Amino acid sequence: MKVIVAESSGFCPGVRNAINMAEKTLSKEENVHSLGEIIHNKDVVKKLSSAGLKIAKKINNIHSGTVIIRSHGATAEQISQIRHKKLKIVDATCVLVKRVQKIAKLLHTQGYKVAIIGDKGHPEVQAVLGSAPDISVIGDKKDIRKLNKFRKLGVICQTTQSPEHFAQMLAEIAQTNFAELKVINTLCKEAVKRQSCAVQLCKKVDIMFILGGLHSANTRKLAELCKTYNKKTFHLQNWKELDKTILFGNNIAGITAGASTPQWVIDDFVENLRRFDNKKRK
Ligand code: SF4
Repeated sequence: MKVIVAESSGFCPGVRNAINMAEKTLSKEENVHSLGEIIHNKDVVKKLSSAGLKIAKKINNIHSGTVIIRSHGATAEQISQIRHKKLKIVDATCVLVKRVQKIAKLLHTQGYKVAIIGDKGHPEVQAVLGSAPDISVIGDKKDIRKLNKFRKLGVICQTTQSPEHFAQMLAEIAQTNFAELKVINTLCKEAVKRQSCAVQLCKKVDIMFILGGLHSANTRKLAELCKTYNKKTFHLQNWKELDKTILFGNNIAGITAGASTPQWVIDDFVENLRRFDNKKRK
């Protein structure tokens, strides 16, 4: 089968850095925890767990040792809890996520009501909420109506949202009656690049595969975008999960992967797909 891989796919610098920091810490220390899964990829999590990384859902479950803060960051409350328990911190928060937190704080000190466009339940957004008092989350149009009573609004965005969604929400905001609006583009260029390469590719192929964790926000965004242009888009974690019968009748397959998908998962998928005889039903 003919296979085309998106020009930009797989690990981003933030995720690569978090994994490197985890591996380095594990090579030197024994009692190492990550607050939640270090990245949204079960293959990588499994590999790091076998090297000794313990996953803790809550800080209360950690009694000693080191805590790695993942690339999404941690809330201010979590950081103070970790400090209070005198645990060692290895901060792998992505610099671009830290930037969003700093901007939220700055907008607040400048007198703006801060609003972030994003998914309320996502850890990155949760971490940003702790950067300044009373930050609102804009998940959809309905949330904008609740902001009408404020005069000055400062708007930022979750790093992995799509530029299209950011623009749609800004267009809605512009139609309300804020006296002053300040918008800072906090989208991650790496995530945006992956999205535009994926969209370009999915339009040219018969069938499109998005590889990555089912809970990974940026991978899900890739799948959501590609589905609008190619109905035969499938989000899965690896080659083993693929129902091979869906390949018959398709000649060209496109592949992209989320920012937390390791290269070996992509290579394995590509290799198997290239070898697959889509004319011969077995
Ligand atoms: S997707 Fe962007 S913001 Fe998120 S970890 Fe990667 S580089 Fe950082």
